[in-house]
Amino acid sequence: MQSMASDYYTILGVDQDASPKEIKKAYKKMAFEYHPDRNPEDPEAEKKFKKASEAFEVLGDEEKRSMYDRYGEEGLRGINRQDFRSSEDIFDAFRDIFGNGSMFGDFFGQSRGGAAGGGGRNLRVPIEVTLEDVANGAQKTVTLRKRVVCDECDGSGAAPGSEPATCSACNGYGQVERRQGFFSMRSTCPRCGGKGTIIKSPCTICNGSGLMDHASDVHIDIPAGVESGTRLKVPNQGEPDPETGRTGDLFCDIIVQEHQIFERHGPDLICHLPLPYSLVALGGKTEVPTLNAQTIETTIPKGTQNGDVLRLRGLGLPSLRSRRKGDLLVKVYVEVPRKLTGRQKELLRELSEIEGSNVSQERESFLNRIKEYVKNVAHAGGHNGAE
Ligand SMILES: [Zn+2]
Ligand SMILES: [Zn+2]
Repeated sequence: MQSMASDYYTILGVDQDASPKEIKKAYKKMAFEYHPDRNPEDPEAEKKFKKASEAFEVLGDEEKRSMYDRYGEEGLRGINRQDFRSSEDIFDAFRDIFGNGSMFGDFFGQSRGGAAGGGGRNLRVPIEVTLEDVANGAQKTVTLRKRVVCDECDGSGAAPGSEPATCSACNGYGQVERRQGFFSMRSTCPRCGGKGTIIKSPCTICNGSGLMDHASDVHIDIPAGVESGTRLKVPNQGEPDPETGRTGDLFCDIIVQEHQIFERHGPDLICHLPLPYSLVALGGKTEVPTLNAQTIETTIPKGTQNGDVLRLRGLGLPSLRSRRKGDLLVKVYVEVPRKLTGRQKELLRELSEIEGSNVSQERESFLNRIKEYVKNVAHAGGHNGAE
């Protein structure tokens, strides 16, 4: 009997008088080592993971453990046992250990969703960036008010000099069992809230929570190409869980500020460029603004029309999804001057005379259409009047 009983203890590598805390710790260590995420396609590791989980299912439970201690595996026959057919069954059974099941979410505290499971709270913060930041990437520092492990009690929640005591309601297991006829219902211990320990004299700085408020500077790398709505994860910059030592993550929601000159269209930048009539008519060179407060000289082809778009390749923004940079789209609008000098008036009048006698094809066909329209309306009107 004794040799059988020692089996589960051997698997977890603990003594028979190990405390619930020691058993949990030993199982966590093994689960970490043989976790399927860390040992993909290794059937040996999977077997060990399952064995350790079976051992913990019994030793981590007050009633099962005492039956096992007294009668060995025989003693567990009448007791409801978990059926571990897959890793998912194990994650489900020990949610307080695995959280969402992913090792990286659990042991390194990187992707914990909720508060359940003791992974530490995730935090969210909005971060405003400029288009220049989007173009070049940036480093931002934000000051976060968050809870950190209490200095005074080192996170234990107990006043210095005192220690948390084992909860007498659940004997440190964190769960209590209630019998109802044939069935037994298991629930989180109401006295200790599942911790297994009770703090008799709480730390006065953190009131027993083990956490205190603190303003911390967090440095955030903003990669080039981010967009409004991009969410960046900064691992382990959330709040710690003093019990498990795991820390939540910080999520940064990017907001790209509007720019004075450029509009963003995916990776492309759009800029509206006013140009004088004479330049678009004759063609010529002009300066076009680019990001980072620089300009580039570009050629305006002669005959450029109002609303035409010039595409300057590769002068747009980098993208998070591809290596190709966007383009700079220059939308031309032809300026009509509101004020003219005497000399300008003189030249324009002269121009006007030439244009009057030198009607373009487009204008001629437009004028013809107007003539046709006026004639038709006049004709229809006359007909109505006669009736
Ligand atoms: Zn404290
Ligand atoms: Zn308790």
